[in-house]
Amino acid sequence: MRDDDFFWDGARERRLLIQRCGECGQVRHPPGPMCGRCQSVAVDIVECSGRAKVEGWLVSKHPTRPDDHPRIVARLRLDEGVAMISNLQGIALEDIREGLAVEVFFQEIDGKVLPQFRLAGVTA
Ligand SMILES: [Zn+2]
Repeated sequence: MRDDDFFWDGARERRLLIQRCGECGQVRHPPGPMCGRCQSVAVDIVECSGRAKVEGWLVSKHPTRPDDHPRIVARLRLDEGVAMISNLQGIALEDIREGLAVEVFFQEIDGKVLPQFRLAGVTA
C-alpha cells in the first residue's frame, strides 16, 4: 500500500481526502508517512469541503493529449489550509485572479478519476 492510495480511492468515490496528523492535528498534502511538524506517524484521513482559493497558475504548453485545450494548472489553497496543485476548467484565462473561489469536481480521464477545479457555485 502506498501513502497516496487513500487519495485515489477517495477520488473514485468523488471525495477529496487529505491526511491529518493523529497527534497534533496538522493537515498535510501531498500525502506522506510522517508529520512534518511533530514527526508522528499517526494519521487520520479527513474529507475536504472541496472549496479552495487560487494562489497561482500557469498554462501548460505541453497538453498530455493532442485534442485537449491547453491546461490551466493552478496552485490552490484548500479551505482546510493545505496547498494542492490541480487543473482549472471552464474558466477563461483572463478571468483567473489570485483569491478566486473555486471548488472541486471529479473527472474520469483515461480510466483514472482526477480531482479538477471550477468556479465555485457552478452546478454541473
Ligand atoms: Zn503532527
